[in-house]
Amino acid sequence: MNARQRNKNRRNARALEERARRKFLSQYRCENCNEFGGHWVSTRGISLAAMITGQDDQEGFWTCPKLYDENGRRIGT
Ligand SMILES: [Zn+2]
Repeated sequence: MNARQRNKNRRNARALEERARRKFLSQYRCENCNEFGGHWVSTRGISLAAMITGQDDQEGFWTCPKLYDENGRRIGT
């Protein structure tokens, strides 16, 4: 395989990956605002200890559109 072909394959793989991610996000309903899209941004995953006890102690924040005004400021909680 020559370099041009390899680069083309790489671009193609990236495009497919991006499309798969968008498809996943568009089908995923946010559990906070119930609209489509992945609104949860995780800054720390669930700890191993919490996973064992079945808890969810991950940390992060919601990016739901309804939580922010048109200036990007957060409304309420
Ligand atoms: Zn949301």
